Order: sequence, then structure tokens, then C-alpha cells
Amino acid sequence: TSTAGSSSTPAHNAPLPPSTTSTARSSRIAPHSHIKGLGLDPEGFALLDTAGFVGQNQAREACGVIVDLIKSRKFAGRALLLVGGPGTGKTALALAVSHELGAKVPFCPMVGSEVYSTEVKKTEVLAEAFRRAIGLRIKETKEVYEGEVTELTPSESENPLSGYGKTVSHVVVGLKTVKGTKQLRLDPTIYEAILKEKIVVGDVIYVEANTGAVKRVGRSDAYASSYDLESETYVPLPKGDVHKKKELVQDVTLGDLDAANARPQGGQDIMSVMGSLVKSGRTEVTEKLRKEVNKVVQNYVDQGVAEVVPGVVFIDEVHMLDIECFTYLNALLEDRMAPTVIFATNRGNSVVRGTTDIVSAHGIPVDLLDRCMIVKTESYTTEQIAKVLQLRANVEGLKLGAGVLEKLAVEGDKSSLRYALQLLTPASILASLAGRSQIEIEDVGEMNELFLDAKTSAANIAAAGYEL
Ligand code: ATP
Repeated sequence: TSTAGSSSTPAHNAPLPPSTTSTARSSRIAPHSHIKGLGLDPEGFALLDTAGFVGQNQAREACGVIVDLIKSRKFAGRALLLVGGPGTGKTALALAVSHELGAKVPFCPMVGSEVYSTEVKKTEVLAEAFRRAIGLRIKETKEVYEGEVTELTPSESENPLSGYGKTVSHVVVGLKTVKGTKQLRLDPTIYEAILKEKIVVGDVIYVEANTGAVKRVGRSDAYASSYDLESETYVPLPKGDVHKKKELVQDVTLGDLDAANARPQGGQDIMSVMGSLVKSGRTEVTEKLRKEVNKVVQNYVDQGVAEVVPGVVFIDEVHMLDIECFTYLNALLEDRMAPTVIFATNRGNSVVRGTTDIVSAHGIPVDLLDRCMIVKTESYTTEQIAKVLQLRANVEGLKLGAGVLEKLAVEGDKSSLRYALQLLTPASILASLAGRSQIEIEDVGEMNELFLDAKTSAANIAAAGYEL
């Protein structure tokens, strides 16, 4: 059974929470999955088309300098401002900077206009984004059962409460390591976790002895009949005993901790326990609650249990923020625990929102602009657009027929790289509807008739005389 063993970590019995990422954020990062880093050599010069990055050499090299400044802690109180046309890779650059800072560095992207909500104060939206961009790496030595699953049998019994129906009373899990096999009789709550994690025979898992938290590590090639797409790896059979002490590392963000503590669940699952660090009956994340969470976090850091991992907050269309937000940003940048801040805009001189007469470069007030290091992105050549398209097609597993890449690249040149990229998926759907496994020129042609790129659409309206 999953009976307790004592945690060897002093004053810290809370189990590790799962790292949470909102679906909105991951869908914003997904189009950049081919971007692995800035692609610079050790001297900081841009390598030709590497790490998923095509062209944009000067901007990449400039970002490389920023990464060095951040790593040597000389970028505090400052921000990076990326300036360039739509779809010229500003988001991609920001993401690449976060990759260069380390593997598990949080990246929290948002768009300036997100601050305008009827429910949440503008400054709160910004504060939350900053908290989500600060990671906390929690290290704990825990007693675990680890091995490859050889058996997974839920045992059912009559449900005494309802008088009918059956419930899982316990689950028998067989675990195997190179040293031997063990059969565990585990709590029924673990069965839910097993279902949730989609654990099957052949997976390597570990079960925390005192909390019963289950984690799937990967598949073992002993059982796997095919390559595991999800983890992209085979995990060899664990070497030691089934029952052992293991150093567990879990990554969360301060934003996750704030949210969990604002809505304590009072349950047994991991996040609920982590959510009762701070004793409170609150339902909202307040400044006071953040301070309390900070205090607990500081304690963990002092004990050597946790390490703060400053990440990157990326604010696209920064010109959409107003004077109140800019003032608040100045204060946030001053904070000791501030993440790296990257802004992006495609505006020239504009009126600062929230004022009637302050015109400033990029619509950003001068005092904030003074803190920014500005990097420009260039527009792409047709060849570069073709290269990015090919990268995306590879990532998405799409095959392109003769001449398709060239045609899409020309479309991209006429409108934007993003438009050409956006044609890929619908064109692949058309191809599969026609029973083909690769995209042909006619699929692209048809997409172009069905949809308009922004420039053509605007020109149509102007021609019809509706221009506002
Ligand atoms: P916007 O300001 O309109 O949001 P952006 O400048 O942030 O645009 P991105 O979203 O970074 O543009 O780029 C659009 C798409 O093109 C993304 O899928 C991105 O990964 C890809 N991309 C852009 N530039 C490059 C590049 N130099 N190499 C590889 N991929 C790129």
C-alpha cells in the first residue's frame, strides 16, 4: 500500500504540484515549435539557418548579446523592444531568447490588448503575467516506487454507500526494474491518476510513497511496439530497486502558486496541497496573498529546497497598452524578482494610449523607452519565406508536391509570411479530402480563392468606397 515514509526535506511535506500551462498560451507557442534557439556560434555570430531560425541574422546576434547580459545579471530594470513588420519573427525571437536561457525557463506571452477586460484590472493582468514568467524549481528527495508497469489491475468491490454499483477498492500494480519485480496494492485514488496520465503496461512510472502521486516517465522499449510520439523517447528499464529514494524536480510558476492558494481545494491531490501553503479563505489573488506566497517561497529557497528561475514575459503589440499600464510596468521592472521583459511592436510614432497629446516612438512613453534596448526585424525574401514554409511543413508532417513551395512563397511575399504559413494546414485538408497524401498546387490555388490575405482584403474595401 501507499503508506507513508517520511520526507527527508525539512519543514516541507507538501508534495510537488504539476506544472500548469494554459491552453491559450500553448496554442500561442505551437506555431513556433520549430524554433529551438537563436542559432548562434560560440562567438555570438549567427549561423546560417539553424535552430529553426531562417535569416534575421542581425536581430539574432543582438538578442544573443541580450541573453549574455541577462545571464550575467546586467539586464535588470531594462527591457528588450523588438520592432518590425507583422510576421517578421518577433515572437519567434522572444521565444528563442527564453530557450537560450535554459530548458525549463517559463515563457509567458501576451498581447497588449489583453489588459482590457471587464473583470480584471489592467494592472492585475500585467502583474499576473509577470508572476507566470517566474519559475520555481522544487527539488525534493522522496521515497518512490519506480519501475516498468507489468500489471495494472483495478479490483472492484460493492459500493457500501450507494448500496449498488461497484467502486475500485484498490489497484494492483506490478513494477519491474532490472533488479526485480514488485507487486503493489495501491489506493483507489491512484487509479484515477493512472487513468488521467493514460498509463498502460510497458510505461515506466513512479509512485510517490507518501502521497501516492503517480508520474509517467516514458515508455520502456522492452514493451513498446512503436516509437512513443508523446515523449519522443524510450526510457530504459530503471536500474535500481523498485522502492528507492529519488530526487524529484518539479517546475511551477509563482502564478500557479498564487492561483492555487487563492482557491484552496482542500483535497488530497497534489495541487490542492500545494495550494494550502498560505492559510486563507480567499478566492482572489491579492497583493497580500502574493507577498505571503513570496515569503513561503523565500523560505524554500533559503532551505535549499527550491530555486527561483526567472523567465521571460513577452508583450506583443505593446502600443496597445495605456499610460496607466506603462507606469505600472516601470514599477514591475524595478522589482527584485522581475522576469526578463520583451516587448514587440510594428508601430512608428503614435499617440500614447490614455493620453490625448503625448506622441512618442512606438506609442511608448519616453521614460519606459529609455529602459529599452531596441532590436529591428527585417522583412523576408521569397527564398527565406520558402525555407520557413519547408520547416513548418516538416514539423507538421505535410508533404508538398512539385512547385507548391514556390507558389506559397510567392503568396507570402505578396502578403506576409504568416499568411503563407496559414495556408499550409487548410491546403493539406483539401488535399486529404481529394484523397491525396501531399499538397498540390491546385489546393493552394483553391485556398487563395476561398480566403483573402489582409492586403487584398483591405484593397477590396477601399475599391468599393467603404473606406472609413
Ligand atoms: P506579429 O507581430 O504579427 O505577432 P511576429 O513578428 O511576432 O508577428 P512571428 O509570430 O514570430 O511574427 O512569426 C510568424 C511565424 O513565422 C511563426 O510561426 C514563426 O515561428 C515563423 N517565423 C518567423 N520568422 C522566422 C524565422 N526567421 N525563421 C523561422 N521561422 C520564422
